[in-house]
Amino acid sequence: MRIDLHTHSNRSDGTDSPAELVEKARAAGLDVVALTDHDSTAGWDEAQAAADRVGITLLRGIEISTMLDGVSVHLLGYGFDPEDAPLLAELDRILRGRDDRLPQLLAQLAEHDMPLTQDDVIAQSGNAAASGRPHVADAMVAAGYVADRDEAFRDWLYDDGPAYVERYGAPLLEAVDLVREAGGVSVVAHPWARRGRQVLTAELLSELRARGLAGVEVDHNNHSAPVRAELRELAVDLDLVVTGSSDYHGTGKGPEFHLGANTTAPEELERLLDRPRFGA
Ligand code: AMP
Ligand code: ZN
Ligand code: FE
Ligand code: FE
Repeated sequence: MRIDLHTHSNRSDGTDSPAELVEKARAAGLDVVALTDHDSTAGWDEAQAAADRVGITLLRGIEISTMLDGVSVHLLGYGFDPEDAPLLAELDRILRGRDDRLPQLLAQLAEHDMPLTQDDVIAQSGNAAASGRPHVADAMVAAGYVADRDEAFRDWLYDDGPAYVERYGAPLLEAVDLVREAGGVSVVAHPWARRGRQVLTAELLSELRARGLAGVEVDHNNHSAPVRAELRELAVDLDLVVTGSSDYHGTGKGPEFHLGANTTAPEELERLLDRPRFGA
């Protein structure tokens, strides 16, 4: 059993359609794949139809943009009701925050002699429900300002970089509550990548566990081997489910983020799906 619990389609900042992603997951030999677009469930129906067609188990998920003490934290949610009103309202707020920062971001690029219009970015984001910096990066590539997304992020768009603009994220504790109350389970994505380690301490993870957090993503390309070992030990101590995943974005991220690059053990998936959904 090969299980990949974190991937992105072009409904957010991946480059494959949901159906293409599912087909590629089957071709890559995966038995279970989760679609976890940023802040949107827009790809679920198309992905489910493709999964039924090619014979792979789809887990319907999301990666929610949250904030904790001024640090961005990504929360994976699985199996919740996509029509749940309080959750939808919060996702709408996040999606609006993504769009609202665009004028300021483009103004900062213009100051650096890289003028782009909102339409240039929309031409790249296509039918994505969640716009993001990767689409701005694609517009920069199309205009000939940079060679690829990587260069755009490395020189301009990185956190606190020259063209960076903060955006709204749901308070982390509130997001865990919303997923639980919508009948789903949540897993902190790449908790100790970038600045996550500053805020996601053992104490905080323990508090989240008490609130219903089901697991932590341990095996992720942005975690080094020693970080994975330490986080795995903490997860076992806290009785949190250990997941592993690719964070695949199609051609939007390097080849090391290929489908199945990291996987989740079948018994861990079973524990995740068995988690009591309320007050776990
Ligand atoms: P945003 O959602 O607008 O805050 O942009 C963050 C997104 O950009 C995340 O989904 C990352 O996966 C993606 N990202 C971050 N760094 C890079 C990079 N160097 N190349 C491509 N995508 C990146
Ligand atoms: Zn992404
Ligand atoms: Fe993420
Ligand atoms: Fe992701």
